[in-house]
Amino acid sequence: MAKQKPPVKKNQTIELTFQDLTHEGAGVGKVDGYPLFVPYALPGEKAKVKVIKVNKNFGFGKLLNVSEVSPDRVEPPCDVYIQCGGCQLQHMSYDLQLKMKQNQVKNALRKIAHLENVPVHPTIGMNDPWRYRNKVQIPVGERDGELITGFYQKRSHHIIEGMDTCVIQDEVNDRMVEAVRRIADRLGITAYSEENDKGVLRHIMVRTGQQTGETMIVLITRTEKLPKQEELIKELHETYPQIKSIVHNVNKEKTNVIFGKNTKVLWGNKYIYDTIGDIKFAISAKSFYQVNPPQTKHLYDTALEYASLTGTETVIDAYCGIGTISLFLAQKAKKVYGVEIVPEAISDAKENAKLNKIENADFYVGEAEKVMPWWNAQGLRPDVIVVDPPRKGCDEDLLQAMVTMQPERIVYVSCNPSTLARDLRILEDGGYETKQVQPVDMFPQTGHIEAVAEIVKKPD
Ligand code: SAH
Repeated sequence: MAKQKPPVKKNQTIELTFQDLTHEGAGVGKVDGYPLFVPYALPGEKAKVKVIKVNKNFGFGKLLNVSEVSPDRVEPPCDVYIQCGGCQLQHMSYDLQLKMKQNQVKNALRKIAHLENVPVHPTIGMNDPWRYRNKVQIPVGERDGELITGFYQKRSHHIIEGMDTCVIQDEVNDRMVEAVRRIADRLGITAYSEENDKGVLRHIMVRTGQQTGETMIVLITRTEKLPKQEELIKELHETYPQIKSIVHNVNKEKTNVIFGKNTKVLWGNKYIYDTIGDIKFAISAKSFYQVNPPQTKHLYDTALEYASLTGTETVIDAYCGIGTISLFLAQKAKKVYGVEIVPEAISDAKENAKLNKIENADFYVGEAEKVMPWWNAQGLRPDVIVVDPPRKGCDEDLLQAMVTMQPERIVYVSCNPSTLARDLRILEDGGYETKQVQPVDMFPQTGHIEAVAEIVKKPD
């Protein structure tokens, strides 16, 4: 059957009623069955919309004014919410954010994995869903001869003017960025300029252990040398005693990647420390550490519950980072093997095992999809496998290795419902059954969704 022409034209203004939300949190309204995606519109709302893009099967619109306002619409507290684009859901009540995330997981399971009846529990949210982030990485620029810091405006490399706070960021980090910028500016340190590939300071990264109050500052420069290094360091740590570590990273490339290869501790420790539950973690500059520790505790508690450990089990933790989940599991298992691709993270993981006097966890550097088949060939037979992959999900080889190893249980921690659902289908076809899924809100005010799935071997 030939598709009909879209019922709307570019630049046309229309009245639209919204029924649904996309997985990025945009409103979805239909004109004669043709869906239009409109950022910042909410289900139940009626609004004037300007059509800005018309594709064959769907289009995009811009919200002009809302005539029927949803009771879930709230005033975004951030002054640069629309410009920045780092948050997508500040205009939505927190209750609706949590419901939306639960629904996104449900829909992905139904549409992609064809799993209709798996219980997806209500999202575990925060009591206070603001100022939760423990890490900021912010670009440095110059305007009128002065150093500025701020996030890039949406889809650009233009630093947002006058942005001195971020409402999802720990206030300590905000203040530290401001301090580094102010001192560096006074010392005459220049900002890196992308246009002519000149200048010094590219990014400032700040990470704070929310339980310990320890802060690490990382200065990322184009140049091998950081001018006025001694003065900068001295003023920073003498003025702000919570700073425990100042690190210098050199990135000479013309690239969007923030970190370069070489990292050097300029002052203080190589690590800052933080705790989750009763485990203490050493975190170095380049290692992945969850940005929202109180919610991470809920995430790991759920993973631990789904692992159902009694103390006799052998466990693999694939994509283990600095060993956070591994060390949680090790307290309840016989032996844990962690694998992770970033060498610095594995050296942190080993340090963390020592720090917590945990002797039954071993860590290996490598690609999980290569190390797992190798472990299998060596005869390693885990009872439980935990995976926590990046957004692109598990590699096909890794999923096959899991199915071949036949663990009793798999716990899948996911930051992307679509790839979770894709991988659950493969595991289901390989003889596993998804028992339940628990979404945990690790990133309030943003469209990001985290979930844990309990997967068990079907009886033979
Ligand atoms: N479980 C950890 C880390 C999860 S983030 C935690 O909760 O803190 C995902 C991790 O996977 C990152 O540390 C990343 O470096 C790692 N990673 C990415 N690709 C990988 C691969 N192919 N093999 C092993 N680890 C990988």
